[in-house]
Amino acid sequence: MSRLGKVNALEDASRLPNASHVRLRPEIIATPPYRQGKPAAPDAFKLSSNENPFPPLPGVIEAISAAHDVNRYPDATATALRERLAAEHGVSADEIHVGSGSVALLSQFIQAAAGPGDEVLYSWRSFEAYPGLVTVAGATSVPIANNGNGAHDLTSIADAITDRTRVVIVCTPNNPTGTIITAIDFAAFMQKVPAHVLVLLDEAYAEFVRDDTAVNGLDIVGRYPNLVVLRTFSKAYGLAGLRVGWALGSEQLLDAARASAIPLSVTGPAQAAAIASLDRSDELLSRVDVLVERRDHVVARLREQGWAIPATQSNFVWLATGNETDAAAATFTEHGIVSRPFAGAGIRLSIGEPESVDKLLAAAEVIVNSLPSGHGARTLG
Ligand SMILES: *Cc1c(COP(=O)(O)O)cnc(C)c1O
Repeated sequence: MSRLGKVNALEDASRLPNASHVRLRPEIIATPPYRQGKPAAPDAFKLSSNENPFPPLPGVIEAISAAHDVNRYPDATATALRERLAAEHGVSADEIHVGSGSVALLSQFIQAAAGPGDEVLYSWRSFEAYPGLVTVAGATSVPIANNGNGAHDLTSIADAITDRTRVVIVCTPNNPTGTIITAIDFAAFMQKVPAHVLVLLDEAYAEFVRDDTAVNGLDIVGRYPNLVVLRTFSKAYGLAGLRVGWALGSEQLLDAARASAIPLSVTGPAQAAAIASLDRSDELLSRVDVLVERRDHVVARLREQGWAIPATQSNFVWLATGNETDAAAATFTEHGIVSRPFAGAGIRLSIGEPESVDKLLAAAEVIVNSLPSGHGARTLG
């Protein structure tokens, strides 16, 4: 067979043999592969992944292209970026750990602390990545229902801690509902968590918070030896495509994550872009102010339309459409909006380009008026 013929035969996937007899872990077979929000039609607005709608700043692009020695492996421990973050937050560089996105960090900490027979607690509904990360570690998820406002029920989470609990993940603002945890509630919660249980405070959207009662992990991490704070450059800093996140916590805990990491995952261009972004924090954070204003506008208009929506402090809003979710997502698609539906639960919509706002609101108005009376997502009639 010619080489070309062989390539063509392999490209036709229907000719690959069926591999269903290969023995895989049953819990992995039962786990659906990660599915991204639908790719947007060319003229649609992609409001499905909580990305930053602003394009990268010019200096950031330059830093990426200046990191040109990509024939070499990157600095495995992202020294310059860690030193920079450490100086900004008044800790030592060993108390910062950088990963290829904070999802990679979550995976490392879960794997470091929990294995078969161990339990990982988190609020539900929360970040869609949590269940899969726990399954891959071989551990058991214990989801604890959100309260009626879409917020964490920290009392029930603390009550659910057992001898088997190794990790508790706390997400504030919570993805997908946008609700925060107050500093007072978090302190009371930490009083109840045994010192041998690792608490991961996932603050991917911290820069969008304007409620000053909210907990801020960077302020309190020094009080709790079992607490690790997770931050990311993907959302407010607009580097989702480069994959950089960071953790702040004690050196011992971070060493356990470093031991669980796939080495050399954070690329040189990603490290350079993150440093260049910190150099331009003022400019980037004034963009966040614009998004926060846009969010507050969208929330106010949705409430006027009759939506009952949780108090979001992030760059997205949550519509608890329940059983009407599929139909509601179709209406958003018809209006040129790519939403993130969670079947049977609700729809998450990111705050995107200015031009997306009127389309979002027009679709939402059609949907709220079509919800059956007494539906939980409605405040009126
Ligand atoms: C987006 C997000 C992350 C971070 O994603 P990375 O791109 O991997 O840094 C982490 N936690 C939550 C809750 C998120 O929504």
